[in-house]
Amino acid sequence: MDERAYFERLDSTASDPSELFEHFEQRSVGEYTAHVLPSARHGVERGTVILDSADAIVRGYPSIPRVLALDAGVTSFFDSGATVFAEEKLDGFNVRVVDVGDDGPLAFTRGGYICPYTTARVRELLDLGEFFEEYPGKMLCAELIGPETPYTTHDYEEVDSHAIRVFDVRDRESAAPIAVPERRDLCARYDFPQSRLFGRYDRSEATEAVWSAIEELDAEGREGVVMKTADSDSMVKYTTESKHHDELADAFSLPFDLGRDFVFSRITREAFQAAEFDESDERLRERAHDLGESILLPAVDTIRKIESGGTVGERHRVRGGNDEIDALLDHLRDLSLTVEVEEDYRENGQRVVEFLKVAESTTDRTTYYLEGGTY
Ligand code: ATP
Repeated sequence: MDERAYFERLDSTASDPSELFEHFEQRSVGEYTAHVLPSARHGVERGTVILDSADAIVRGYPSIPRVLALDAGVTSFFDSGATVFAEEKLDGFNVRVVDVGDDGPLAFTRGGYICPYTTARVRELLDLGEFFEEYPGKMLCAELIGPETPYTTHDYEEVDSHAIRVFDVRDRESAAPIAVPERRDLCARYDFPQSRLFGRYDRSEATEAVWSAIEELDAEGREGVVMKTADSDSMVKYTTESKHHDELADAFSLPFDLGRDFVFSRITREAFQAAEFDESDERLRERAHDLGESILLPAVDTIRKIESGGTVGERHRVRGGNDEIDALLDHLRDLSLTVEVEEDYRENGQRVVEFLKVAESTTDRTTYYLEGGTY
């Protein structure tokens, strides 16, 4: 691989190619040999992939900062004359869809893997042929959502199994985004389902509008909002109480698999939101009660399950073609996950598989403490 040529194309802040490329890992990604950046470095996003045989760079999706204090955050993050676009932040997993060669569109996960199952899903859910004919250098950034995906399980009333929502269209090589209004028009033209747009607001009215969107989303158990400048160059996120509690419940159902930072950051989000918006003592106590339940109940449930000989982990259900599900299970095992298939049957001409990603640390450590081990 000609590192110098790719270095120039990546427009990194590193002073020379080796400073950047020492962080890349070489992997087999499907049929390709890929050079993948596992964490953001020198101005290049996590999950950036170089497919040398296709002479292609696929930039990672940038990290989106979060504000904890909504009003102060909006004021400091956006310029005084800025228009703020508020879009729904969906709770699924990030997919980048690109077309780099003769194999048809490919779906990359955040970490820079080509997921065979997700690739099949995006080909089925989006009419990609004409789009990539017209825009071969673009990448669609989308969220795969719904109760039946291999990575997340959040329920949406409007989604029975799985669905895709496009929230960004970027240049595959430079990561430059298309401005929000143009992107929304473009997606509408190709019939790509999109994340909901709450509206465009002057900075001075954004806090009130976003808080009202957050209250509505919270009541429906949905995740939150991403605020964006019109050019989509700057983005910031803010999430609902129900999302924080769901994440805490997930973390405490597998208490020794998700780190302490994960838990602390969710509680901190709650504390800032409560300080800003919980006007009555009663409301604050109600939140404290719900927060406590989301921590204690799943943890006790897990301890009891392990005590009675059960296995714990993340449970997923997927449906699709025979080969793509086999490829998915191989892919997950290649990532060193312990996958236990619990159900495997056919329904309406499709294969349906329910599987558990076993949480090894939680199982081992809980067993150890239950047998009297000291902490
Ligand atoms: P980070 O963004 O800091 O890497 P993270 O990986 O924990 O954090 P999230 O907190 O889930 O990610 O937030 C960012 C993700 O939100 C994006 O990567 C994208 O997949 C998802 N997302 C969902 N809806 C939208 C939207 N409307 N606009 C932008 N991103 C969205």
